This record gives sequence, structure tokens and C-alpha cells, in this order.
Amino acid sequence: MSIMDRKIVMSGIRPTGYLHLGNYFGAMRNYVKMQNEYECYYMVADLHSLTTHPDTKELRANVHRVLAENIACGLDPEKAAFFCQSHIPEISELYLYLNMLAYKGELEKTTTFKDKVRQHPENVNAGLLTYPVLMSADILIHRASFVPVGKDQEQHLEMARNFAQRFNFRYGNVFPEPQAFNFGETLLKVPSLDGSGKMSKSENQMATLYLADDDDMIRKKVMKTKTDNGPTEHNSIKPDYIENIFLLMNLVSNADVINKFEIDFNQCSIRYGDMKKQLAEDMVRFIAPIRQKATDIMNDEKYLQNVMEQGAEKGRKSAVATLQLVKESMGLKYY
Ligand code: ATP
Ligand code: MG
Repeated sequence: MSIMDRKIVMSGIRPTGYLHLGNYFGAMRNYVKMQNEYECYYMVADLHSLTTHPDTKELRANVHRVLAENIACGLDPEKAAFFCQSHIPEISELYLYLNMLAYKGELEKTTTFKDKVRQHPENVNAGLLTYPVLMSADILIHRASFVPVGKDQEQHLEMARNFAQRFNFRYGNVFPEPQAFNFGETLLKVPSLDGSGKMSKSENQMATLYLADDDDMIRKKVMKTKTDNGPTEHNSIKPDYIENIFLLMNLVSNADVINKFEIDFNQCSIRYGDMKKQLAEDMVRFIAPIRQKATDIMNDEKYLQNVMEQGAEKGRKSAVATLQLVKESMGLKYY
């Protein structure tokens, strides 16, 4: 493969709290797999966090946490550009240009916007409304083709394609149309343990498994998940909350273990207590080493500063080049 064919990848995570299993399987796992094959830009989306988290007391610690937990999961800052969004001012400039191509009506119809308005009616700010425009700028500034994200971001990616198309149509061909990406067949949504929506940094916190949870907390959360007395007919359809337990098991347990519980379910001999104990231990086995590594990295502030500086340098190189093309195409060049 020549360097010209090398596809560009971009994605980001907001520093709004502790990272969780959903972030890992929807996003971070793919970051790590992709960094060997593609030119990758990964970002701590600090500006995005301001749309819903105006209080910045925890921001610094959260930025460090996102950096450390990603690196603990295998992201290699030597292979990928790993930076903070606010360290690349070119993103904000492209955001301004793209805002002129985004319409109020389509932004108001975005599902995540409507959800956030419902949750926080006291803080419906313009940044929240234009979130998908900033996210498009994040992606388009590197002219990325692939965006590893979870299912909750699908609609935003569609909007990014629309803005790219509009720009290209009006001013000339600058941007590829970015696609959401997962190594599996489809985009993933890791459900919350209580079955209400997805695991999340900012919501459903008692029903979310965090990469920083200690062993007892993991066990406690898993054992609390809802079950029932079990099926009464062979080969029944699983209720949603049971389906979710199987889904979680599929992420961290061995195939033969999962298979055994599938058979037990189909033969009405399943014991959910045993299943949850097994799931809890497999979760502990998965999360504990990540937690320990992340704690060590987080304590090394000098290293994290180096990562941010090196990341910003790599990220800006690509951003400056795109912005120059953008301004030339738009006719913003007067001498
Ligand atoms: P917040 O609640 O603050 O919005 P979040 O948990 O939704 O936090 P984001 O920073 O918004 O996390 O998203 C980071 C990445 O993780 C995105 O690619 C998103 O699609 C993915 N992601 C978040 N939650 C899940 C989930 N439950 N299942 C799969 N992917 C997820
Ligand atoms: Mg989110």
C-alpha cells in the first residue's frame, strides 16, 4: 500500500468523567486495532464537554484520566496522534465556516440535542445545538474517512457527511465523506446494567461499569442486575434485560462459558445467580489490569504533558494543511 492510499482515521472522547465498558467496546478497542494500519488522530474532546459541563473544576483531572485510560487500553501515542481538541485552534476556525452550511432546523431535529434539552432544560446553549457541526469539524479537519464510534454517534456521522457534501458542492472538492466504523459488522451499543439506555460517563452511573471501578464495586453492580425466575418453555425468546446480560457476557467471557448458559437458558435450567457470578468474575479479570495501568500513568504528569505536546504537534500539521485548502477553496485569500 502506498502512503497515498493510507486511510485517515479520527475519533474523540469527551473528558466528562470516568471511561466505561461502552467507551471501550464502542470506541477505544477500535482505536487500538486501527493505529497499526491507518493514519490515526485521536482526541480528548474538551471543547465538547463544555456544551453540557460548564463547571470546569474537574476538567483537568478528567483530561488526564481520558489520556491515561486510553493509553492503558493500548493506544500508542507514538503510532497515533493523541491530542486535546483545544490545542488545535484550527478546529474551531473550521467549525465557524461549517456553521454557515448548517441549518437551524436540521440541528434542532438531532436526537442527542432533543435528549439533552429534555435532561437539562436550563442550559440549552448554542454550543449544544451546534455540537454536530463541531464534531464534523473535528473529523473533516484531518480529511478522515473512518470514524470509530459507538452506535449513539451514527446520526452525527450522517450530518458530517452532509456538511462535507455541501462544502464540496459549493466551494470545491476538499473533504472525503467520513463513515462510522467498527471492526465488528455493526456499530455497538453497550447497554446500561439496568437496561435503561446505554452505559455513559454522565448518566446511568450506578448502572455503568467503569474502567476505574474496584473489584468489589464491579461485583456489586453486576449482581444487582435484573433477572427473573427463568424461562418456562424451551427455546423461549429472551426478555431485553436477559439479552443484555448475554450481550455483556459476549464482551468479556469465553465462548464455551457463554455457550453453556445459552444451552441452560434454552433448556430452562439456567441459574441467573451463577451466570451473574461468572460475569462478575470475568469483568473483574478484564477491568482490573486496565485500572492498575491507568492509575500509574495518571500519576506521571510529566509523561502526560509530553503526550499532549507531541500529539498537538502531529495534529496541527494535518489541521493547518486542511485549513489552508479550505480557505483557498472558499476564496478567503486576498493577496
Ligand atoms: P457522556 O455521557 O458524557 O456523553 P459518553 O459515555 O456518551 O459520555 P462520549 O465521550 O460521548 O462518551 O463518547 C465517546 C465514544 O464512546 C463515542 O465513540 C461513543 O459512541 C462511544 N460510546 C459511549 N457510550 C457507549 C456505549 N454505551 N456503547 C458503545 N459505545 C459507546
Ligand atoms: Mg456521549
